[in-house]
Amino acid sequence: MSSDKTLVIRNGTLIDGSGKGAARNEAIVIEGNRIKSVGPLPPDVALEDARRVEVIDAGGQWIMPGLIDAHCHVSYGYPTIKGEGKGRGTARPEFSTLKSAGVTGLSVPGGTWFTDVGVRDAIKLGLMAGPRMYVAGRMIVTYGCIEDDEPSWEGTPDHSVGKLCNTANEMVTEVRRQSKHGVNFIKMADSRSGESQMLAKEEIAAVVGEAHRRNLRVGIHSRGAGSTRAAAEAGVDWIIHADLATERDLEAVAKAGMPILPTATFLALVVELGQSVGAEQVALDINRMRRHFDLVCELMHKARKLGIKLLVGTDTGNNSFMPHGELHAKELEIFVKHGGYAPMEAIVAATRENAYAVGLEGQLGEVAAGKLADIIVLRKDPLADITVLQGGRHLSWVIKDGKIVDLDPRDEMLTFQQAAE
Ligand SMILES: [Zn+2]
Repeated sequence: MSSDKTLVIRNGTLIDGSGKGAARNEAIVIEGNRIKSVGPLPPDVALEDARRVEVIDAGGQWIMPGLIDAHCHVSYGYPTIKGEGKGRGTARPEFSTLKSAGVTGLSVPGGTWFTDVGVRDAIKLGLMAGPRMYVAGRMIVTYGCIEDDEPSWEGTPDHSVGKLCNTANEMVTEVRRQSKHGVNFIKMADSRSGESQMLAKEEIAAVVGEAHRRNLRVGIHSRGAGSTRAAAEAGVDWIIHADLATERDLEAVAKAGMPILPTATFLALVVELGQSVGAEQVALDINRMRRHFDLVCELMHKARKLGIKLLVGTDTGNNSFMPHGELHAKELEIFVKHGGYAPMEAIVAATRENAYAVGLEGQLGEVAAGKLADIIVLRKDPLADITVLQGGRHLSWVIKDGKIVDLDPRDEMLTFQQAAE
């Protein structure tokens, strides 16, 4: 494997991420980190020249753009290592994120310290293997918002995922601080379940203004109706959840034109686990979570009617039962089963549309000439069964940024396990 070799994927069925029907693939030619051509083999590419050309035969298999998870946490503070106690404030980056699962891009809306910035850069510099990452820092919250978990005399400790900012001025200062430390976007977060609006429209607008001046985007955790409308009018770049938004609030979102990232996977997992292991085990209110899940599924249908784009994300890593590498494609299954999406539409949402959540819209998420070369090859047809994308079980090849990813890093995993035991 070498990036200076031309990589050619021959044969197979191509799902190109544009929404166009699946078609027979002749040759995808990759040079450096970009796709050079898709279609007939160009006459200047000599397949037998093994010194300069590497050939993947995808005969009988399916080729598509690498998946992007638009909502995945990497340093949330819940990683567990066997034999080691789990305590508050012992956050560390979760190494298992890097286990390959056909996910070549992650959008990370919030974590501890600037851990995710460091992981992103280490991957970019080739110090470790992993997906493209587009990261936020600590979530900007006011008293009582999600992630303001300590009493007011404690505030939000330095290791917290939330950063308490109770005035627009404090928020702008925090945007500047995070900008200085290299985040790609700012995460704001309103109340946990949308019970009341805790961020004023003017405060959201102040953050958006400062972030956009500094070429950063803004995503907001907003389940409530009021916060969703305020976020839409303040011009955030995407809204996460939006499940309590009324028809009128959603019209405001449609008018402003930003996508919604419903994130149903976490809710589905809580409901499933609550039934099998009991509510105490998940330590979350199952009925509340089921209501959110139903609302988010309804939202998927409403959004389509209003022409609001949906992004595909899971909230992997936000809890100990949301393991990295397993659930990134479960959201597509929910889009299909509960959201009225065709499998092809779900794939387009998780690839071409999700490129927006990693700041690479128009450049990533399609198998087409000129695009960045993130491609997966599967042994089963995801259009026939969308669940074959889950957990990386049917992957035969992953190409990220033009390079073939080692799908069997067993030696490294073994070292990790031994160290942990
Ligand atoms: Zn989250």
